[in-house]
Amino acid sequence: MVSREVFDAYLVKKAEEAGAKIIEDERLLDIDDSQNSVIVFSSKGIYKGRYLIGADGANSSVAKRLGLAKERRLFITINAEIKTGSAEDFADLVEIDIGAIPYGYGWVFPKNGSLDIGIASIKNKSFNPKKYFLEFIKKRPFLKDIKIEKEYAFRLPTNPENTPLNIIGKSALLAGDAAGLTDPLVGEGIYYAIKSGHIAGETVINLFNKDSDIFNYRERISKEFISEFNYSWKAAKLIYSMPYFWSGIIKRNIKIVEFYYKVLRGEETYSSFAKKLKAIVGK
Ligand SMILES: Cc1cc2nc3c(=O)[nH]c(=O)nc-3n(C[C@H](O)[C@H](O)[C@H](O)COP(=O)(O)OP(=O)(O)OC[C@H]3O[C@@H](n4cnc5c(N)ncnc54)[C@H](O)[C@@H]3O)c2cc1C
Repeated sequence: MVSREVFDAYLVKKAEEAGAKIIEDERLLDIDDSQNSVIVFSSKGIYKGRYLIGADGANSSVAKRLGLAKERRLFITINAEIKTGSAEDFADLVEIDIGAIPYGYGWVFPKNGSLDIGIASIKNKSFNPKKYFLEFIKKRPFLKDIKIEKEYAFRLPTNPENTPLNIIGKSALLAGDAAGLTDPLVGEGIYYAIKSGHIAGETVINLFNKDSDIFNYRERISKEFISEFNYSWKAAKLIYSMPYFWSGIIKRNIKIVEFYYKVLRGEETYSSFAKKLKAIVGK
């Protein structure tokens, strides 16, 4: 478990050490990438560059302004962080309850004396996240005395199954959530954001060295993630449409869960997970 404040501040420090200039409190107003360069209009000035990497998250202004954000599917999430009082009681508690809510899951994570509690669902229509969030808490006796002061709602974009990736402009590339690179089964995106950021950086270096064209970025991202995401979509459809059936199978075959942990740790792939699942269920 990692606190995002600490982790994100660490990344900013690393970027600065590597030579990045951090500019804060400045709003993006517009982008022009129609020529062989990029012009960014902000609330405080105008910036010109050869390439732009849009890594501005789920509600990416860069993606919207370049017309690249149209096809995304959205996870709707709601979460709250609460102080528990006796942190030790919860330090070992990590709960991920797939199927706890329609087309999604709920979680309870310990973080430095706090609990992060949330739900995420890929079902967008007629879905009331607050209702399911409160029900998820109510069903857990160990959460009965907690007081939620403020909850936060977010959206997590993911690319629909078998859809061409819309992540490059003429001189702009999208990375992370801005590119819809989250896992369709659980909405996990930190790994994909960091990895796609690396690939975007490498692509721009190669572009400057004239070793590449911008389409290579889309090819590399497709190769790296998309076949995996297509397996993850299949798993999401199967599991979220029949959560009780799958929970029965999983309870009888705990090896499936252990194998899935390896996928989450990046030691195994979704395609090998699908094969494993088929072998176990087919027995
Ligand atoms: C409740 C919740 C729980 C999650 N839990 C997990 C988890 O356990 N594991 C996991 O892997 N993933 C998790 N995710 C997903 C994960 O947070 C994202 O996939 C990941 O943060 C994406 O990284 P990113 O850099 O693309 O975007 P972000 O982390 O959102 O960073 C985007 C940055 O751009 C900045 N920005 C946005 N707009 C502008 C603008 N106009 N001008 C300047 N700056 C701008 C933002 O301030 C932000 O700093 C969770 C998401 C949510 C909502």
